[in-house]
Formats: sequence, structure tokens, C-alpha cells
Amino acid sequence: MPNDGPVILSIANQKGGVGKTTTSINLGAALAARGQSVLIVDLDPQGNASTGLGVALDDRIVTTYDLLIEEAKLQDVAQVTDFPNLVIAPATTDLSSVDIELGKSEGRIQRLKNTFSGAAIKAFDYVIIDCPPSLNLLTLNAFVASTAVLVPLQTEFFALEGLSQLLLTVRDVRDGANPALRIDGVVLTMYDKRNNLCIQVENDARENLGDLVYRTVIPRNVRLSEAPSFAQPVLNYDPNSRGAIAYKSLASEMLKRHEG
Ligand code: ADP
Ligand code: MG
Repeated sequence: MPNDGPVILSIANQKGGVGKTTTSINLGAALAARGQSVLIVDLDPQGNASTGLGVALDDRIVTTYDLLIEEAKLQDVAQVTDFPNLVIAPATTDLSSVDIELGKSEGRIQRLKNTFSGAAIKAFDYVIIDCPPSLNLLTLNAFVASTAVLVPLQTEFFALEGLSQLLLTVRDVRDGANPALRIDGVVLTMYDKRNNLCIQVENDARENLGDLVYRTVIPRNVRLSEAPSFAQPVLNYDPNSRGAIAYKSLASEMLKRHEG
């Protein structure tokens, strides 16, 4: 990794339930397993990434809410997990009031970026921001603070709907607060190769988005949905599952892309 700071990825899609959190946790864990130093920033008031990585509610004293509102320091919010190379900045439902609290204050979309300006962020190779299912102030903060956006796309009917709005939002941010923001790519999730619709959606996505779409697809795999209730990434919960293998493959593909 070059010395000019970490890759900072917003995992974003304004649709809920498409695999953002699952991808944040498991891509993060797979990159960490490859020796990358990874920070996961939970920016969803639901705090599912925090829960999935075993951060109990009692242990969420200083959270991403404090980053955005109080401008707490990143090093005070980030905490180690049970998994090597994997650090998390946890979230609570407090985050849901950020929109109202920041109101129309100037620089309200720069809050997260500001907290990334210190030395602490340089300890990481990858920062993965798990975004809420909305193109709101939280997501804008993520986009302004990021180097790129990774979009999980659930392979179902209407998958591509809403993507144009997401891409427009990225363009707005690029035209304004963060000219360097890129689309890292699109990753197809909950893929079922026995389902013709999935194949059709995949073909559509590859036709329309070309090389933006990762070759790796994430299959529908029950181990992926079970792992969070054991407070583990799937790599730990069931390393040989199809879900674990897929996220390891996604991490490899991403590392290769980012090297080249
Ligand atoms: P989001 O963060 O976009 O709302 P999640 O990652 O929380 O989406 O996923 C929504 C639900 O689908 C969760 O219950 C999750 O465990 C499950 N899920 C996500 N990806 C898969 C997958 N590839 N196979 C099976 N279940 C999945
Ligand atoms: Mg989520």
C-alpha cells in the first residue's frame, strides 16, 4: 500500500437488506486475513456491523456518533476486535439523530473526513464504512471521507433500479466536496445460480457497468446469515463455507485491482 493513506471505501446502497453490512464485515475480515490492517466504521444507527463483530452495547461508550457530533478522536472510538488486524468504530441508535443535530450547520458533510485527518487513520490499509440504507447526511459524510464507493447489488428483480440515483449522488459529491471520489465497483450479492433471474440480473449488470462489476459474486449462503449471531465473520464461523470462500475471493480480486 502506498504511503498516501488508506483506501477508504464506503459500502453503500440506499436499499436495505442488500448485503452492505455482510460485505463490510466479511470483506473487512478477508482483507485482514490477508495481512491488511482494517478499520470498519459502523455508520448505520442499527449498529449491525458492531453487533456482528461482537461489540456488546455496554462497550459502545464512545461511538461514531461522537465522531460526527463531538468530533471525538478516531483513536478514542476505534476498538480492537477478537480478530487480528480488524478494528471497529462502533455505532448505536444515537446516530439516527445526527441529521437533526447537525441541521444546516456549515461543514456538516465534512465531519467524518475531519476525524480522518489525524495520524490515527494512517495505521490502516483499508477503512470500510458500513453506510445506512439511505442517501442521507450519514452517507454523504461517508462519501466525502472516502476514496471510493463499493456498491453491493442484490441479484433480484429491480436490482439496477436506484443505482442511477446512487451514482448521481456520487457525482454530486465528486463535483463538490470530494473530487477524488471514485466508484470502486459493484459486487453482486445473494446470488443463486439455479435462479434464472439471478443470471439475467448478472448479465444486465455486466452489460451496463462493464468492468466495474467484480468477477467474484457472493452466493446466497446460510452461513453468512448465521455468522453475526455468533459475533463472528464467516471466515471464523465457517471458513470452508461458500460464503467465506466468496469473500476471500472478493478480497483477493480487490487487492489485485488496487495493486494494478
Ligand atoms: P444491509 O446491510 O444492506 O441492510 P445485510 O448485510 O444486513 O444488508 O443483509 C440483510 C440480510 O440478509 C441479513 O439477515 C444477512 O444476514 C442476510 N444476507 C446478506 N448477504 C447474504 C448472503 N450472501 N447469503 C445469505 N444471506 C445473506
Ligand atoms: Mg446494514
